[in-house]
Amino acid sequence: MAARIEEGLRDAGFRGEIAGESPLAPLTTWRIGGPAEILATPADLDDAVIALRFARQRGLPWRVLGNGSNLLAPDAGVRGIVLRLRGALHACTVEGDVLTAGAGASFPRVANVAAEHGLAGLEFAAGIPGTVGGAVVMNAGWHEHETGNAVAHVDFLDEDGKARRLDRAGCGFAYRRSIFRERAVVVAGARFTLSPDDPARVKARLTAFAESRKASQPTELPSCGSVFLKPDGDFAGRLIEAAGLKGKRIGAIEVSSKHANFFVSLGGATAKDVLALVAAVEDEVARRFGVRLVREFEAW
Ligand code: FAD
Repeated sequence: MAARIEEGLRDAGFRGEIAGESPLAPLTTWRIGGPAEILATPADLDDAVIALRFARQRGLPWRVLGNGSNLLAPDAGVRGIVLRLRGALHACTVEGDVLTAGAGASFPRVANVAAEHGLAGLEFAAGIPGTVGGAVVMNAGWHEHETGNAVAHVDFLDEDGKARRLDRAGCGFAYRRSIFRERAVVVAGARFTLSPDDPARVKARLTAFAESRKASQPTELPSCGSVFLKPDGDFAGRLIEAAGLKGKRIGAIEVSSKHANFFVSLGGATAKDVLALVAAVEDEVARRFGVRLVREFEAW
């Protein structure tokens, strides 16, 4: 079946890379997940349009993969087409105080480019290991800093493959949300309006953001970052720790003893184990404190 999809995609004019039954685990920061029936890396935006239209015509499911840093891929893998944007659509240009980046650009790299040009507003991205597309979709952020605050507009393909643009007000940015999280679209890129500042000062703030993460988070082990959203007036990590769950393990996945809202893989963890641990933590926190934690990561 994968071979037939590959052939059909090529016949439709797709020029990028195609791999059949390609493991997703190495493409996610949790290092978990079975194969994508078809992993397609578009050569450019036209290629992404071809893939979307092909999937639609054939009634094939499709998904978009950024850097897989907020993602739990199922052990059985996923059917249909996974469009991988990391390594594609990664241009990043600066003109005055405006930075334009493709969805596949690394978010930390874009933050560094902004710093080199003496532009402030994206320093918080230094330790967020996603793509620009993933950061826009998730409205990634750190404390009061959020991706959406710096966005001027977002370019995307709707599910018919039509190119569309929304300015910040139309993107529905809220805490770890945007309208792109609810709709079947491909975010193609974003324009950010930043503030001129001394490059050395921007760089110093960027380094401070990156270092504060290393000090508080288990960045040396595979994870998806925060497992749960911040509940009103509290912290998920505080509640999990107070419930005595630091170090709780199911299979090879463990509630980090460095930061309880990070669940780290000790090697060979499965999605089944992750979901079991997540459910066990949700239940215990709800039982102890009456708070129902809400998951931040996307489970495919
Ligand atoms: P992916 O994980 O690849 O995808 C996430 C979701 O977005 C999926 O549903 C995917 O289909 C969709 N998607 C991705 N790209 C596109 C696109 N171009 N078009 C349409 N849909 C798309 N997050 C924070 O907010 N703040 C943090 O401080 C933070 N720290 C982290 C630290 C660590 C160590 C790790 C591992 C993760 C952290 N995260 C943090 C989570 C994660 O890095 C962010 O959510 C990031 O924005 C996800 O980007 P990604 O490219 O990896 O998206």
